[in-house]
Amino acid sequence: MKVRVPDYYNKFKCLGDKCPDTCCVGWVIEIDDDAYKRFLSLEGKTGEEIRNNIVINDEGKPCFKLNENGRCAFLNEKNLCRMYIDLGEEAQCALCANYPRIGDEFGSLREMGLSISCPEVARLILNHKEAVSYEEWDIDEKPDTTDYCEDTMFQTVLSLREVAVFIAQNRKYSIHERLGLLIVLGSRMQMAVDENDCEGLEETAYDFSDEKYLEKVIASFNKAADKTYKEQFINMIYTFLERLDYISPKWVNLVNEARQADTKGAFCEEYRYENFLVYLILRYFMKVIFDGEIYSKCAFMAFSVLLTEELVSKQKASEDRIIDIFYLFSKEIEHCEENMAMLNDWFWEEPWNNPKNIIDVLTTI
Ligand code: SF4
Repeated sequence: MKVRVPDYYNKFKCLGDKCPDTCCVGWVIEIDDDAYKRFLSLEGKTGEEIRNNIVINDEGKPCFKLNENGRCAFLNEKNLCRMYIDLGEEAQCALCANYPRIGDEFGSLREMGLSISCPEVARLILNHKEAVSYEEWDIDEKPDTTDYCEDTMFQTVLSLREVAVFIAQNRKYSIHERLGLLIVLGSRMQMAVDENDCEGLEETAYDFSDEKYLEKVIASFNKAADKTYKEQFINMIYTFLERLDYISPKWVNLVNEARQADTKGAFCEEYRYENFLVYLILRYFMKVIFDGEIYSKCAFMAFSVLLTEELVSKQKASEDRIIDIFYLFSKEIEHCEENMAMLNDWFWEEPWNNPKNIIDVLTTI
């Protein structure tokens, strides 16, 4: 098998007790089968304490109990995990031991990444001035399932993802133009996916790999879109955010402050949004293979950049504040299944379901 990681992957080092947040407060941690078996047979006082702090959730899965402040019983006053300190990393359940590492396996390719919901990962991603590149190496392991990976559709979507990254990292165009291109790409791909039209996907990959074609698409964007439309669109995002569930008052305050601010705040360089966008492409693009939805994923990318940009622009944002905006966005939205499901449904409705509306917002200065 091959392992593929972004070039910042091996630079990650947990901040430990210097971390401005924690890995787990407010999150329900599901315990994997292997760890659960280990916990059930662990002897002594620690074993007993672990078992006393496990509950079975509505889906029949074992999870760690949280107190009224959303804290796990093993999180000490320095926000460090006592289980890790007392028993080592190998004692932890897979979720805790791996975080913030995330991964997907596509046949003989294992892709590993880091979740931007960790402040230190956000710092690494956002401070990466050059375009993110990838490192690959072979490991002596056999893939679990490969059947669907042999499929032409899968291979074509994989090359379309390369095209999406190529667009996202093309610094000849502004970040909004790149997002507009991704919206058009997603809309064309969606038509082909709906028709199970592999040839249509191949044609899309061919067209969007050609810079002349990209320039033609950009030239078709309405550069004189109405400024008030953008303001209404952003207000609509704020109103929708009220419907989502959050765990951290820090995020809620940040959004509320930005909504009320009428002055311009900080500026954040385009390469930061580019790296964020590439992160989102790698995290979500291939999931179209399983759910048949790609347009809503591209809309989510536009939503994510528009929202973080809006929050940055309305804060007197220091470097730390900028990091907060991105990692809290990921923690509160990206890592909450219910929030993601609500957003996904929204992207199939007006105004998101019309690519022109999103492009009009993106191309308004
Ligand atoms: S959130 Fe990141 S930096 Fe903070 S304790 Fe967890 S892994 Fe370490």
